[in-house]
Amino acid sequence: MADQLIRATAADGGIRCVGVITTRLTQEARVRHNLSYVATAALGRTMAASLLLASNMKKAESRVNIRINGNGPLGGILADGRLDGTVRGYVGNPTVELPPKPNGKLDVSGAVGSEGYLYVIRDVGYGYPYSSTVELVSGEIGDDITHYLASSEQTPSALLLGVFVGAEGVTAAGGILLQVMPKAARDEELVATLESRVGGLSGFTPLLQAGKSLPDIFEQLLGDMDLQIMPEVQMVRFHCGCSGERMLGALKMLGEAELQDMIEKDNGAEATCHFCGDVYHASRDDLAELIEDLRANG
Ligand SMILES: [Zn+2]
Repeated sequence: MADQLIRATAADGGIRCVGVITTRLTQEARVRHNLSYVATAALGRTMAASLLLASNMKKAESRVNIRINGNGPLGGILADGRLDGTVRGYVGNPTVELPPKPNGKLDVSGAVGSEGYLYVIRDVGYGYPYSSTVELVSGEIGDDITHYLASSEQTPSALLLGVFVGAEGVTAAGGILLQVMPKAARDEELVATLESRVGGLSGFTPLLQAGKSLPDIFEQLLGDMDLQIMPEVQMVRFHCGCSGERMLGALKMLGEAELQDMIEKDNGAEATCHFCGDVYHASRDDLAELIEDLRANG
């Protein structure tokens, strides 16, 4: 099934529901960054979460940046999801691999670490991003983001994230987020019902592998609660806004002496974008032009 995001409401608007399928974009990230199995699962979960969190924002440029710094061997994770359906991300140590857990699942918390911090930056599109930080609760990512939503955004939420990756690559990935809206948030019974229904699912990827669509999953969870599925199906994809021009802009900031050094010692410059792995080259002439620009602008 194509990567996509679908929204719904239930309980007379008291519940907001959003689901995302990210199978292809997670595979793209795996290939771009040469990710191990466990790194694919960790980054895939984080990217799906950033798309889910960005999905309720308003302005077209809105974005959600999720950074996880745990004490595990994977190093940091960063994902940048946008309301327009694009997402990008990377991890500190992409090739770290760990043996699976006794239940056969990838040991995401072992790779991420169960101690550390989760940072969420919401940029609402007006140039004043706001950020908040919570301590990690498990390093499994889904739990950590649910904890963030409850404690920092005061929105009781049930979140399910999953990535299935085998020898042939990523065959299922995505997630589902159910949130109790402020007017219904005091209805503790409703919150408990959602938690138990999401907890009763065997996971997100088994549903996809069983051929269920996002509307099927919404029906299964909320079909008896006045479910309203929005007709719009939004496509989601891996996309990074980097370019050769931006790379030259960043090089220019290094200043004339450093640029001159690159011309003489390295015969040019090469830079790799952290977010997508694309490599950009700057020739001697490119660098000489930057120096001229710097001189011209004092
Ligand atoms: Zn890039």
